[in-house]
Amino acid sequence: MSNLIYEAVNWNKPTSDLAQVFWDQQWKQIWFPEEIAVSKDVKQWQNFEQQETYKKVFAGLTLLDTVQTNIGMNQIATHTTDLQEKAVLTVFGSFEAIHAKSYSYIFTTLCTNSEIDELFEWVKKNEFLQYKANKISDIYNRIEEGNSESLWKAMYASVMLESFLFYSGFFYPLYLGGQGILRNSAEVISLILRDESIHGVAVGFFAQNLFKQFSQETQDELKVWGYELLLDLYQNEMSYTDDVYAETGLSPEVKAYIRFNANKALMNVGFDAMFPEEEVNPIVMNGIRNEGSTYDFFSQKGSSYAKAKVAPITDDTFQFNR
Ligand code: MN
Ligand code: MN
Repeated sequence: MSNLIYEAVNWNKPTSDLAQVFWDQQWKQIWFPEEIAVSKDVKQWQNFEQQETYKKVFAGLTLLDTVQTNIGMNQIATHTTDLQEKAVLTVFGSFEAIHAKSYSYIFTTLCTNSEIDELFEWVKKNEFLQYKANKISDIYNRIEEGNSESLWKAMYASVMLESFLFYSGFFYPLYLGGQGILRNSAEVISLILRDESIHGVAVGFFAQNLFKQFSQETQDELKVWGYELLLDLYQNEMSYTDDVYAETGLSPEVKAYIRFNANKALMNVGFDAMFPEEEVNPIVMNGIRNEGSTYDFFSQKGSSYAKAKVAPITDDTFQFNR
């Protein structure tokens, strides 16, 4: 039997700058897909011409949320030493499980069983989808005990997944929902997006705290590694978009949205944006919710507010869909 000293998580005094803030905010946003009346979309769905694209978009998102539940948040939580941050990451993991399950709720409402079976087979066969799942999971699985560079890399990969790669999928329901098409399914997506915004900022913030402790030389190396990873994922994302959106003619607009979110992901980890500013479809930017979608969780006053303000988080960090 081992004879280690186990420490209990002590929330009586803060050990992490923002763990309590992220914790509170995540729980405040708790939701379940069954609360949204997706069945109201059934009628529109029957006459909807781009069912294939729509189903594939959601199936792709299901895979990413599955990876994030089972590998991402688990591995990062395991190797994070601060017990409060560990707890926050574990809570995030639970929300990933809700996300992954919510697509099945939509499928079961809109699709037949054989369509659903086909779709989950497609996930296993789509090379671009499998490429990103492999790329990100490898980094998660390579965290070494006590090696904070490998932990930082996993956090960076997590932010790329959540603030960047998800958006090729989010585009379509937001684009349609914003025009009153399949609006309830889009509502589910907007709730997922609201969670991902917190996750991107929180994990990005934890990553920045680690990064500060590295030597200049290590920081430079990691920066090169980070931009290379982003470019690699970006190339793949362009092919994925062409593949999935082929029938819709929307690829160029999806790609602009992807670049916009790649810049946001970089900012979440404290790096400079790399793509030039360009116009993103205003329907998608506005999102489908007129209320509740734009709130600033740092607007709550208190010590954490001041800390957040000195951290490199921008004012519109929590302005969703804008
Ligand atoms: Mn998720
Ligand atoms: Mn997430």
